[in-house]
Amino acid sequence: MHPSCQTLGGNVSTGENVDFLLKPINAVGIRLGERAGIRLSKAIIQRTAALRAYNSYGDGGDWMDKLSTAYVVALATRSADTLLMRDIQNHISENPPIACRGCREATFGVNVIRERIFPRLKELREHTNDLLHHLDSPENVGVDSLNIQGVFEYCYHLFEKNAEALFGTIPETVFEFTVCKQCRKEQSK
Ligand SMILES: [Zn+2]
Repeated sequence: MHPSCQTLGGNVSTGENVDFLLKPINAVGIRLGERAGIRLSKAIIQRTAALRAYNSYGDGGDWMDKLSTAYVVALATRSADTLLMRDIQNHISENPPIACRGCREATFGVNVIRERIFPRLKELREHTNDLLHHLDSPENVGVDSLNIQGVFEYCYHLFEKNAEALFGTIPETVFEFTVCKQCRKEQSK
């Protein structure tokens, strides 16, 4: 085991899904910029909230504590993810400009960007959405079936594996123009 991995132990009455190893996130949120300036990671507030919760997961507490920590990690990571995708979207140059809003969305909407550039992040976000929907609905009982580890994996994947993207290094990607459903309908009339 990596020395900085923590084992999350404890007898948890709700099952084994709160017991797993957390991979350390070593990426930093602030870097030195040009001429002694500093550069902040994008979504720094969400990043800080997510990582604070992430790093406190091993600190003990019962499964309720762990679940609420997972909830914070999920929300903050998801929000940072959304901000990153919007930022990438804002920097895509349209040539020629796309007039229809639906077609713009179909061509380079945030979900399209995530799917094309960060397919694994998309998968992990879906797990996370499922967990949040489950916890947000009071009629749902039990947490045994929840993929809690997936939430931490999502956080790790965004902030550690994609640390460069949060400092603005995005792989060159071509977005093929895609016609939206509405326009396709009109065209086929
Ligand atoms: Zn359209």
